[in-house]
Amino acid sequence: HVRLLQKLKGQATRTSTGQTVRLYANIGRPSDVTAVLANDGEGIGLFRSEFLYLESADFPTEEYQFEAYREVAQKMGDRLVVIRTLDIGADKQADYFGLEHEDNPALGYRAIRICLTQPEIFKVQLRALLRASAYGNIAVMFPMITSVSEVREAKGILSQVKSELRAAHVRFNEDIAVGIMIETPASVIMADELAAEVDFFSIGTNDLTQYTLACDRQNPNLGRFADPHSPAVLRMIDMTVKAAHDHGIWCGICGELGADVALTDTFLDMGIDELSVSPKSILPLREAIRKR
Ligand code: PEP
Ligand code: MG
Repeated sequence: HVRLLQKLKGQATRTSTGQTVRLYANIGRPSDVTAVLANDGEGIGLFRSEFLYLESADFPTEEYQFEAYREVAQKMGDRLVVIRTLDIGADKQADYFGLEHEDNPALGYRAIRICLTQPEIFKVQLRALLRASAYGNIAVMFPMITSVSEVREAKGILSQVKSELRAAHVRFNEDIAVGIMIETPASVIMADELAAEVDFFSIGTNDLTQYTLACDRQNPNLGRFADPHSPAVLRMIDMTVKAAHDHGIWCGICGELGADVALTDTFLDMGIDELSVSPKSILPLREAIRKR
């Protein structure tokens, strides 16, 4: 079977009826690109940038971040690399952030909330990301969005950083694509308005399941109650894809559920445009899609 899967390298991710899906990879650090290329990933749909923060003793410098983003962008060539901005909080702590203990870290001061409250931290990352965008095909993605105003605020900070770089004659991609993660019920409900603000959606089914079903994703005792196959979660995904398409933007899935071949037909019927999964899931998923 492994040899059969190897034969799928270089093959199109297309169903027998001609429907295509882009098959991207999730990565956590630049060295993961090797596995993406070895498994024929068509792009990177989620580069979790947290490693930069969790593995340092202090805020990672712009230069350090720039090198990491550029390395990934260059290795991927023309293929899209979606870099998610900082998604840490009280559960994924770095001491130097000085975050307070929280009883409900999943509902707390994290991700985009830190970035909008402490834009000086956010701006360093955005500068690094924009500078790296001159070396490949980078898109930026904001996590944990719940409202249109958060997106506008984040985009406002991005434009400020762009102006600063322009004034300093630093090269970057002026047309860098901006997307958001859809991983809160609020963002699903507001998806029609959010779609008018961004270039793409990527559904984070790990958090979307947690928040929709009120089941802590870290709690191993919830079993059947934390079922991502729940019709409530699937209906949310369907609503999100429809809202995206009504506004002419693409919509993918970057949570674990994207790799679940028991749902591949369901996602294809919804018209999902992209699935971003761990590198080892790419070829099995391509096989499932081509069988359809
Ligand atoms: C998600 O929530 O589904 C997701 C992809 O992000 P993370 O798992 O990093 O929270
Ligand atoms: Mg998430």
